[in-house]
Amino acid sequence: MQIVKKRKKTRAILVGNVQVGGSAPVVVQSMTNTQTENIQATVTQIHRLQEAGCEIIRVAVPNMEAVAALGAIKAQISIPIIADVHFDYRLAVAAAEAGADCLRINPGNIGSERKIKAVIRAAKEKKIAIRIGVNSGSLERDLLRKYGSATAEAMVESALRHIDRFRSNDFHELKVSIKASDVPRTVEAYRQLSRKTDLPLHVGVTEAGGLYPGIVKSAIGIGMLLAEGIGDTLRVSLTRDPVEEVRVGYEILKALGIRHRGPDIVSCPTCGRCNIDIFEILYEVERALLTYRHPIKIAIMGCVVNGPGEAREADIGIAGGDGNGVLFKKGKIVRKIPQAELVYELLKEVEDYTASVFNEHIVLNS
Ligand code: SF4
Repeated sequence: MQIVKKRKKTRAILVGNVQVGGSAPVVVQSMTNTQTENIQATVTQIHRLQEAGCEIIRVAVPNMEAVAALGAIKAQISIPIIADVHFDYRLAVAAAEAGADCLRINPGNIGSERKIKAVIRAAKEKKIAIRIGVNSGSLERDLLRKYGSATAEAMVESALRHIDRFRSNDFHELKVSIKASDVPRTVEAYRQLSRKTDLPLHVGVTEAGGLYPGIVKSAIGIGMLLAEGIGDTLRVSLTRDPVEEVRVGYEILKALGIRHRGPDIVSCPTCGRCNIDIFEILYEVERALLTYRHPIKIAIMGCVVNGPGEAREADIGIAGGDGNGVLFKKGKIVRKIPQAELVYELLKEVEDYTASVFNEHIVLNS
């Protein structure tokens, strides 16, 4: 069943060697929360993000020390890096010169035409893209006066105004975000903007909050847009380890059937019929597969009511019995396994499946 509309065709741009828009898959990105000038901490975090599947990373560039760190960071990572700059156009110019693959600026706080032109000149010279990031919290005063508050319409007018400024300077390597911290305004703003521009859109709900509210707001906001065919790259925003942002991003894409990276684990909530410790089994399997990148469907079910049915649809699955579990592979019962060995045996099957289907030999630790 297909609930996702065909993605709107947007102009393709390059962020480093990663295409955003056009026919490229929806790209998952995140942002570091280290001090950028702390090169070692930033590189370590980016490596963890890369391992989780992050395809583009953004770092804050609030000062010249951060600019100075960009080159060393870039040399140690293998995904494109975006410099996030506010207020001071000179930081954006310097970040471009230091090797950033893209600049993220909020033109509303960068200032005059002369300053914007300087940023455009630097980006053109280095052949890098720019993200115009419109944010409900920093709209221009005249638009706030005109619309009374930061409405979706006001945000769209701000975005179009900035797009025009760049295009009239013959700069087209643009992507745009238009984020509010609540879902309805964010979705409405992106819908309106998508009708008015062919530029690739970076989608997300800004300042979405901690783990639970952040995941829910992002899943609904980003999910609604993607289901409508809107969005070329996404960032889930969480007050949390950014690795979680990447995981949630892929879960949203998987749930919509848009991209399949990593395991799709189906597990039951358990009930009075369950006689094995499904919570513990799931926890251990999830932990072992945290950085697993191939698409694989795994079912972990508590009993034989829905268990075998779900397990049969999965590549590999278990359905719990009384202190033991039945292992299924592609719909076929393989064997009965005591609970104490279930995780180990399930992971062994994942290793075998990975070798035979993806031709990669891995070792998973239970
Ligand atoms: S699969 Fe079995 S144990 Fe799990 S929720 Fe359904 S009935 Fe309960």
